[in-house]
Amino acid sequence: MPQRNADTSRTGTQAVPQTRDVIIVGSGPAGLTAAVYAARANLEPLVIEGIQAGGPTGGQLTLTTDVENYPGFVDGIIGPELIRQMRAQAERFGAQYLTEDVDEVDLTVRPFRLIAGGREHFAHSVIIATGARPRRLEVPGERRLWGAGVSACATCDGFFFRDRHVVVVGGGDSAMEEATFLTKFASRVTVVHRRDELRASKIMQERAFKNDRIEFVWNATVEEILGSDGMVSGVVLQDTKTGERSELACDGVFLAIGHIPNTHLFEGQLDVEPNGYLVVKEPGTATNVPGVFACGDAMDPIYRQAVTAAGTGCRAAMDAERFLAALE
Ligand code: NAP
Repeated sequence: MPQRNADTSRTGTQAVPQTRDVIIVGSGPAGLTAAVYAARANLEPLVIEGIQAGGPTGGQLTLTTDVENYPGFVDGIIGPELIRQMRAQAERFGAQYLTEDVDEVDLTVRPFRLIAGGREHFAHSVIIATGARPRRLEVPGERRLWGAGVSACATCDGFFFRDRHVVVVGGGDSAMEEATFLTKFASRVTVVHRRDELRASKIMQERAFKNDRIEFVWNATVEEILGSDGMVSGVVLQDTKTGERSELACDGVFLAIGHIPNTHLFEGQLDVEPNGYLVVKEPGTATNVPGVFACGDAMDPIYRQAVTAAGTGCRAAMDAERFLAALE
């Protein structure tokens, strides 16, 4: 097997693998808040921030527009800007960044071993802040037309649907946010929801109800996405009460049906709930492996807010700091 490069520092003339106090995996609000706290505790954290379209990920906030409920910003703040500021704040205190995806972890050895971008990295403690990704419908046509009219990111792809008709699937805050955002471009937005009641918060519901470009199809599921030549032409709907099927012509389909935690890397090494979320010893952030902590959407199936993710990131850094102090 070829020798992998290591995250090295130079001692005298010899390069030796550097063992970090803390490696943070993930760079959303959880990972970056953990980085701020760990850096301010002089732990010199390395943040392996992941790659997205050639740059650092910054997580789901980089795919959103206005964040209106993050405390401290009276007029709201753009998601990517909030991430940029958190990143710079942690850097100011000594956090370092590696823009790579972690491909492999070994949490059975001490120090812990991670492989990212073909290099080995070692750490006495690891904070997992890998977040979650959008759930897919898993219906015919979805995979084939993904990126060709099917999307899970209105901020990224809404622009392509100027004066078009788009369908948004889901009934939560994300669906309302996507639908409302899409009316900046689309002439008509149809929200398809599987029940007759939305899950979204009242304020987001009301905003969508008031928007005359948004209409609702209740009690319906999308059973198939239709289209050819790299273009969506419609969806097949099924009424959940009568079972009746119908076709709805549209030019794009945006999915907003929740998320799946990015925890596959740790399966078999850490305790994971059946729905994929990492198990932590509440109210702390410790996983079943001493020295490994989890925060943010990777361990939170309930709140999943930027501010709650940031809160758990802070807790994870403080837990790691205590763990390291006890090691000494
Ligand atoms: P969510 O609240 O879990 O809502 C997912 C929606 O998708 C639900 O309405 C669900 O239907 C529907 N759904 C799930 N699987 C489906 C399937 N296979 N087919 C059809 N429909 C399906 O997820 P979310 O909207 O992404 O929100 C996640 C969290 O982020 C929430 O805590 C939310 O408050 C927060 N958030 C906040 C903001 C904001 O405040 N600006 C914006 C976005 C998200 P049921 O209702 O029938 O279960």
